[in-house]
Formats: sequence, C-alpha cells, structure tokens
Amino acid sequence: MQRDVDIKDISDGRFYGLNDMVKVGCNDCRGCSACCHDMEALILDPLDVCRLKNGLGKSFDDMIDEELELTRVDGLVLPKMRMGRTLNPSAQAAGDTACVFLNSEGRCSIHAFRPGICRIFPLGRFYENEDFRYFLQVYECEKKNRYKVRLKQWIDEKDPKAWHSFINTWHYFTKRLGERIPDLTEESGRQVTEYILRLFYEGSCPEDEFYAWFEERMALAKRTLAPIL
Ligand code: SF4
Ligand code: SF4
Repeated sequence: MQRDVDIKDISDGRFYGLNDMVKVGCNDCRGCSACCHDMEALILDPLDVCRLKNGLGKSFDDMIDEELELTRVDGLVLPKMRMGRTLNPSAQAAGDTACVFLNSEGRCSIHAFRPGICRIFPLGRFYENEDFRYFLQVYECEKKNRYKVRLKQWIDEKDPKAWHSFINTWHYFTKRLGERIPDLTEESGRQVTEYILRLFYEGSCPEDEFYAWFEERMALAKRTLAPIL
C-alpha cells in the first residue's frame, strides 16, 4: 500500500540494500508488541498468503472467514490481516485492536511464516525507477538502544534476491493494474479483481517453488490482461 508522506519526514535520510547494516536490532522484540496493535491495513501479497495457507493448513476461503478480510486498496481488492480479536487481556482492557495472530504472551503465533511487512518492520520500501530500496522508519520502533543488523539477516528470507524481485514485480504490476481499473466498466473491474484473487491467492501453491509458480502466473496474467495494461 502506498503512503502519501515525504520520506524525509519519517526516515534517517538514508537508503539501505541487502548487505547494509541498519539500526533495527531490538532484542527479538522481547517485552514489546507495539507494532502488532492498532496498525494500518496489513495488505498481504501472494507469498504471504501462500505461507499462511500452508502454515495454518487452511484454504484461502476459510481464512477469509477467520483471519483475513478483503479490502479495496489502490484500485484493487486484496486480502489484509484481520484486526481486533486480541487474546491479550491488557490490550482487551484498553479497548485496543491487535493482529489476530498476536498471542496472549504478546508474541507472534505465526513467526515462522509471518508476512513480509512484519519481516522488514521498522523498515519501509521506497519505490523508484522500477525498483525499490529500504529505508528506516525512525519513529516506528519504540525500543531504545537498537543495534545494527545486516539487512538480509533482518528480513530472514532464504533467497533475499528472489524475494526482492518478486516484491518488485508484484508492486509495479498491481500499481499499473490499479491505475487502469477506474477506466473500466464496473462489471469489467469486478471481473479483473476476481481474476487476480483467483490466480494469485486462491487454490494451492507450492511454497518451495513459489517464485517459479509466481512467474508462470504473472506471465499468464500479463498476457490475459494485455488489452488493459
Ligand atoms: S503477523 Fe505476527 S508480527 Fe505480524 S502483525 Fe501479526 S502478530 Fe505482529
Ligand atoms: S515497536 Fe520495535 S520492539 Fe516493539 S514490537 Fe515493534 S519492532 Fe519489536
């Protein structure tokens, strides 16, 4: 999801690549779950949902009734994490909302297969010239005395380069498509959004070969949607 803010106001003025050291170390978030509460919409990409389906052993439709919901974002309809049913008693007492996967100890119950946005936090992505770089959102993490960690270790992805390429492709594809949808009739727009959900989110996905699976589907989507892209 794009944010309409000036990067100078929220960052330390630097951009970071996979091999850079960045001050994000927070002692494994011990004693803190601030960024899992009262969050902006946590929009999920196809890899996030693939991992959730496999990790929870649930179908996309089953998750839509429970842990996820659909939302309109930048012209498309995409899944996001459901908020509100926190099990944390102190958070409940404060009338707080929290991610449904935050457990009663204030820890992420799906840490091994958490979404990409949670992996990079408190970093953000700055998109430019068909690529992106990371930046540090200096006001997002509440921990003091953060220490430096190499960025590729922080994101904890087996294949960080393939992940980068996937995130980039998905971002620019959905951006372009979202910009075209307002020009379509209501019925055509609905068909396109349903097609995207069917192709990239519903059904099973091979997590071990996700990137090849994704590229195949992306090629199909680009062929099918060529008249409007
Ligand atoms: S998935 Fe885990 S890390 Fe991400 S917001 Fe939910 S509880 Fe927090
Ligand atoms: S605010 Fe910082 S320490 Fe707290 S949960 Fe978020 S990233 Fe972890």
